[in-house]
Order: sequence, then structure tokens, then C-alpha cells
Amino acid sequence: MSRWFFPSSAVAICAAFFLSLSIGTHAQNSAGPQPVPLPPPVPAPVDKPYGGTISLSVDLTNVNDRMVTVRESIPVKAGEITLLYPQWLPGNHSPSNLVANLAGLVITADGKRVPWLRDRVNMWAFHIDVPKDATTLDINFQYLAPINPEQGRISTKFADLTWNSVLLYPAGYFARRIPFAAELRLPVGWKFATALDVKSQNGNVVQFKETTLNTLIDSPVYAGANFKRVDISSGADNLVYLDLFADKPEQLEMTPEELQYHKNLVIQARKLFHSRHYDHYDFLFSLSDTVGGKGLEHHQSSEDGTRANYFTDWAAGVPARALLPHEYTHSWNGKFRRPADLWTANFNEPMQNDLLWVYEGLTDYYGNVLTARSGMRTPEEARDIFAQIAASFQISPGRTWRSLDDTTNQPIITAHGALQQSWPTWQRSFDYYPESDLVWLDADTIIREQSNGKKSLDDFAKLFFGIDNGSYVTVTYTLEDLVKAMNSLQPYDWEGFFRKRVYDVAPQVPMNGITQGGYRLVYNDIEPEWLKHMDPTRGTSLATSLGFTLKGDGGEKPGSTGTVVWDSPAFKAGMTPEMQLQAVNDQAFSLPNLRAAILAAEKNNEPIKLLVKRDGEFTTLMVDYHGGLRFPHLERVESTPDRLDAILAPVE
Ligand SMILES: [Zn+2]
Repeated sequence: MSRWFFPSSAVAICAAFFLSLSIGTHAQNSAGPQPVPLPPPVPAPVDKPYGGTISLSVDLTNVNDRMVTVRESIPVKAGEITLLYPQWLPGNHSPSNLVANLAGLVITADGKRVPWLRDRVNMWAFHIDVPKDATTLDINFQYLAPINPEQGRISTKFADLTWNSVLLYPAGYFARRIPFAAELRLPVGWKFATALDVKSQNGNVVQFKETTLNTLIDSPVYAGANFKRVDISSGADNLVYLDLFADKPEQLEMTPEELQYHKNLVIQARKLFHSRHYDHYDFLFSLSDTVGGKGLEHHQSSEDGTRANYFTDWAAGVPARALLPHEYTHSWNGKFRRPADLWTANFNEPMQNDLLWVYEGLTDYYGNVLTARSGMRTPEEARDIFAQIAASFQISPGRTWRSLDDTTNQPIITAHGALQQSWPTWQRSFDYYPESDLVWLDADTIIREQSNGKKSLDDFAKLFFGIDNGSYVTVTYTLEDLVKAMNSLQPYDWEGFFRKRVYDVAPQVPMNGITQGGYRLVYNDIEPEWLKHMDPTRGTSLATSLGFTLKGDGGEKPGSTGTVVWDSPAFKAGMTPEMQLQAVNDQAFSLPNLRAAILAAEKNNEPIKLLVKRDGEFTTLMVDYHGGLRFPHLERVESTPDRLDAILAPVE
């Protein structure tokens, strides 16, 4: 047992604590406190096999309490061992697997309790001194999933079981060298779907074939009462399924057109990447208003989740339709090919996010392109989405101080979005997604222009991602590799191109792609048809006009402000987030009233008068704005070839 392992007595700790307090303010000379050495680091992962298979038994039957019960048997030898709860999640790009949700940890060997000590520095690490003669540690704990429906992904009808939430694993080994045999007990009558191979099923107990920790965590299970599996394969050599789980059975039904769009996605992705990196691919897809949404990529599946009306009110979902194309693209970009410093040996080594503008940004671009090519968005809807992205950056001054590259640290800075930002248009947020759409559109149109239409970013997809067909062993790359591949496709100063747009502070919005695509960004009072079908409870954006968004309680009810755009007319009038709109020009607030006031102000010089309430206080804000509703659109410029529509058209 190490010196630091257990404190000799609690009294000693308290004495040291009070001693440091009493002399802390005088610590200017050598007589002051000295730093206490940190405990030895948790053993680093090594590429060697773990000596034995870990048995994992997970009980998912208590969905009422959102409590998952875990039993684990880990083969061990006598002496010190450190067990880790996974911390860094691939796809989240952050240390976001909350160890706070683990409770009731009891460890035994041969029926006798074995004490554990959490590391004083690393809260995800547990030190255990394995008794002499013990060969197995029996671990018991519960994973307490969030009950808050905004955060939780377990309900009485559905569960998204992420293995990273329900296991501990030994430190000191690469995750791909630790074998796991997992078993799952489901609520009676529930169905399940996963990319894992099933060994056997006995009633509601499923045993999975032995696999590695790496593959296990990369292969979550969706389970639920209302399930439908839909084959959207493009052929016997490319098996792809929609595994749908819904709050109600009728929400699982789709029209023949909706089915065809999803089949088209698989066909168009094949024509883009010319390879597959899965045995079969499963879109694990929840359609629910009782659990939150999700989009998380895996090699051979993805965790997807939208509102319950995805199929039943298809017209309402235009903005969210890129979800499946985006996550599917990740099977190639992000999982199969990955930035070298985003690949880690286990789930507790820190990741470095600097190439997320490729991992996420290029995925977002291809995702939006595939959404259009599959028919999930009309060409006009697809152009409107690009217009919205460009418009969102035209009103965001954060670009004047923070590079696109620096925003790739955002998942770590804001704990994967858990920490709210007050002024995201100034602070900048997860901009490496949408801004990279514009950067990659710029690159695509340059390749098309320079090659006289012979080459495009489609050829880059084939070159960079279309290798090792059938393999799902990750191939890593660096920025140098990326630039080299771009140059081999179309010689150009790609190094300078990316430096200027990604790594330098670049106040100008990257509009070149739209211009080279044959369009220009315009604003007018014409609301896009698809926007009219949006569910008003999902919120409303007036970001490009007055400069704020209304949260989902908008519509006819008093709305409260979400984001307020930095330096916008509303900002200058004193508006902040979390204000409740009470009245517009002395009339009770409603969205139609607010829109009418904006249109009226276009024709006069009177400011728009808004009565708002915050913290119980009422304030009148005078918003000096006369620019109309300013819906962003792309307008065709006939003198330039129509490259954007060529990009969005299905590949024959
Ligand atoms: Zn993504």
C-alpha cells in the first residue's frame, strides 16, 4: 500500500488544513506553506492485453426511477489496481461523462468488502488494494440517469443505454485490449437495437458476443416499447437500417416518399464516399417528446433523436433534417478517419480538438449536401439553410477577437454545452460547425472553378475517406496530411487558405463559397414557406432584424428572450436574455403583433416600443429599428456558373 493511499488519520488532515489557513496570509517567505506533492498519476494506458475477460451485467428494468443497476466481475491479481469510470467521450470531444451519476459503489472479493479510494485529483479514478489470494473483484453500483427530461435519455417507454455510463475498467491498458462480455436485462416486452452482435437471448435477458471495451462503448443500445426496424440498404453489400423507437406506435409510420428519401441518403453517401466502414449500419433513432434529442456518431451506428413528429409532420422539420446525413457521414469522417490528436488510447486520456473544423465542420458540409441530394430538403430549402448560416455570422461580432480554430475548444470550455453563455454572438460558440460549412463550400467551389468543373470536393471524399473498403480500423491524419491530399486533388495554396480562414482571426464572414457558387446573400420580408410550418413552441428567431430570439413559449403567449445579438438594435436598447416580452407598442405581446410592428416601423421613423419584465421589474425599451423582417435568402447571380445547385443536385 502506498504512502498516500489512506490518510493515517482524519485528525492529521484537519490539523494540516487549519495550519494552512492560519498562516496562509503570511506566506511570503520560506516559512510559509509548501505545496503538497500530488498523488502518483493514474497508470498510463499501454498497448498490451488485459489478463482476462470482464463480465458486465446491466439491469435496465427500473426505468421508473431511471436507475440502471450494474454488476461487474473483473479478473485481478493481488496488489494495487486503479479502476476508471470513462470520462472523455468520443463524439462529445470533452470530459463530459458525469461521474456524479454513479452511486452505491460496493466492491467485494470472495464475498468480503474491499475498500476503494477515489483519486484526490482525478474524480473518475478509484484505487483499490486487491487482497492476497483474490482473483476477481465483484463490483456493484448504480447509474442514476437524469430524471429531468431535457437531460435524460431514459423514460418509461424508451432507453438509450450508453455503456460508458455503466462500467468501470482497469487503468493501464489500451481500450482495444480489454475484453468485455456484456449482458443486458430489459423491461419485459421491450425490443432493442444495437450494432453489437448478439450471442443469445433468453426472454428479456440478452447476452452479447465478447468484444473489446473500445467496440462496446462505441456500440450503444436503444431499447423501448414501441419499435420498428426499416431496411434502407442500398444492396446486399451495404446493409443499413432505421431502428425507430417512439413514444406512440403511430409515430413510427412513414409515407413512401419519406422512406425513399432515407434510402436515397444511403445511395448518395455510397456515391460520395465509394466505401463503407461497417458490417451493417444502424441508425438508432428515437422519436420522442419525453426524452431529449441527440446526435452522436459511432462506427457502425449512431445515436439519433428528434421530436416525436419527425415522420407524422414532415413539413415541420426542415432545419433538423440534416441529423441523419450528418451522423452517417461521421462513419467515414470522424470514426474511420480521425484527427491524430482526437484519437486516444482509452476513455480517460484527454483529447485535443484543433481539427474539429474537419471532423465536425466537413461532416456538417457533406451532411447538408447529402440532405439535399437525398431529397430531404428541396434545393431552395438547402440554399435557405446556407443563407441562414451566412446571415448568422454577419450579425456575430465575436469573429473580431476569436479565431474559428479557437472555437474548437468550446466542448471543453462549456462542458459540451452544459454551461450557458449569456452573449454567444460575442463570446462565439460551437462555430466550428456552421462556419466550416462556409469554409468547405469555399473550398468546393474553388476546386470546381480551378479544374473547370472536372473536379470537386466529392473527389476529395473518395480520395480521403474511400480507402480500406470494409475496414473499421481508424486511420488517423494530421493537418499536413489533409493539405497534401487537397493539393494532390487540385494544386492550390491550401495551407494559406486554411490558415487565413481557420487559424487567423478573420473578422470577414467567409462568403466566397456563396459568391463562387453563383449566388448572393439578400434579406427581405418574404418568410420562407418551410419556416411557416415550424412548430411555434420551438421558438422564433428575430436575430437578423431586431436582434434576438424568443424561446419556445412564443406564439400567442408572452415570450421570453433567448439569445440577444451583441450590438443589435435590441441590445442597444437594453434587451438581455431572460426578459419576458409583455407589450409591443402598447398592445399585449403576441408574435403577430411584434411582426406587424416591425413591418410598420419600416415605413416610419418611430422606434418600436417594447415593455419587458425581468426579475419582477418592468422596463420599456425603445428599439430604433426600421429594416423590416430581414429573412435571409440566396439570390442567383447569372454572371457566375451555378455551382451551388450542382453541388446540391443528386449524383446520377
Ligand atoms: Zn457531428
